[in-house]
Amino acid sequence: MKQEKVNKENLEAQWPLIEAMKDSREVTWINDHKRKDQAGALPITIEEMYEADARLRRFAPFLASVFPETAEAEGIIESPLLEIAHMKKALEQQHGQPIQGRLLLKADHLLPVAGSVKARGGMYEVLKHAEQLAIHHGLLTTEDDYSKLSSEKMRTFFSDYSLSVGSTGNLGLSIGMTGAALGFQTTVHMSADAKEWKKQRLRDRGVQVMEYADDYSRAVEEGRKLSEETNNSFFIDDEHSKELFIGYSTAALRLEKQLKEKKISIDANHPLIVYLPCGVGGAPGGIFAGLKRVFGDHVYGFFAEPVQAPCMLLGLMTGLHDQIAVQDIGIELKTDADGLAVGRPSSFVGKAIESHLDGIFTVTDDKLFAYLHQLFTLEEEKLEPSALAGLEGPVRAEMSGWLEQHFTASQREGAVHLVWSTGGSLVPEKEMAAMLKKGEQLNGL
Ligand SMILES: *Cc1c(COP(=O)(O)O)cnc(C)c1O
Repeated sequence: MKQEKVNKENLEAQWPLIEAMKDSREVTWINDHKRKDQAGALPITIEEMYEADARLRRFAPFLASVFPETAEAEGIIESPLLEIAHMKKALEQQHGQPIQGRLLLKADHLLPVAGSVKARGGMYEVLKHAEQLAIHHGLLTTEDDYSKLSSEKMRTFFSDYSLSVGSTGNLGLSIGMTGAALGFQTTVHMSADAKEWKKQRLRDRGVQVMEYADDYSRAVEEGRKLSEETNNSFFIDDEHSKELFIGYSTAALRLEKQLKEKKISIDANHPLIVYLPCGVGGAPGGIFAGLKRVFGDHVYGFFAEPVQAPCMLLGLMTGLHDQIAVQDIGIELKTDADGLAVGRPSSFVGKAIESHLDGIFTVTDDKLFAYLHQLFTLEEEKLEPSALAGLEGPVRAEMSGWLEQHFTASQREGAVHLVWSTGGSLVPEKEMAAMLKKGEQLNGL
């Protein structure tokens, strides 16, 4: 793809926010491209979401058999919905800003197998690919008990095929674990940001890990190229994949059920406002699109990015999508939020959500670590830095004036603020201890 050279001076004159972004200052951007009643423009339908959910259910017996940690939930990969009242109080005190309504945490850091939100999209795409191959070769029907996929015969069949993906770490983990469990030859192309333990975990399971000294976009590019040159090879394309997007979107069906179980209704008087960490855009975009399909106009969404990786903000605000990278405005992409360390957003996702999303805000790495420590001490949840990007969302929505502008006092009281936590339960103890310590120092405790 040819990238047009963008005129940077022009950009700054047109979008004054860029000046603060260049200085790594936090910003809150409200999306003025948002349109009401645009549900038709979403790239996924509710039928596709149900179909994907049914596919995941077909695979549940297989997943329960190869991943013992999923046996209790009978192979359904899902995370709890938690109330975080202590954290809510702490946020209110620190910012001197009351948060009206409830504050919930969707705990995708607890998703089994991959330990991150990537379990949703990554596992789904690999499973769908495997299903299609097996059905095409007459080895499987959708009526079968899918636990047969763990047989030696099936593993031998899949070993003739290869899978690959470019990743900052977590997508590689998700795809590598699932691909290896089925018997695929699996290669993960890791960017420089990827943590060593993620690579090791994959190598331990026979996954080939290729390392690049460069950023995420380069790892994807190399992976795509190598895959094209290999027979029987399938490349999972985080920047363009509709299947990943659909896999993520199924989270909305599960959340709908969990809210019902908790007797929390979502309607005009109880708006659902979701805060999602964003890297290339697939995970938050897929989840948010799914939520739009399920809750329509009653759901609102903000993405959260590190001050050093505001790629979706830059792409959406300027309308340039993947024709601009944060490096073009002089940002170096130096962040410890490895899952979000992406310089160029997905244009597929950007275009899918641009008329639906309410805004994007950025946070400093220091805050990510401070919140990491707080959420552990106050709620006993262990998250990786990326997963904390959305936590301040309700405060930002309030302090930017957005809440007051869009809702009446009683709607604000009925609001359900949902922070999406996206990863961290597999972080090795030693690394977690170091991150907690860093956070503790930043909190000045
Ligand atoms: C990948 C990732 C995200 C964001 O997902 P994208 O699809 O890259 O936007 C958020 N949090 C964590 C922990 C991740 O690994």
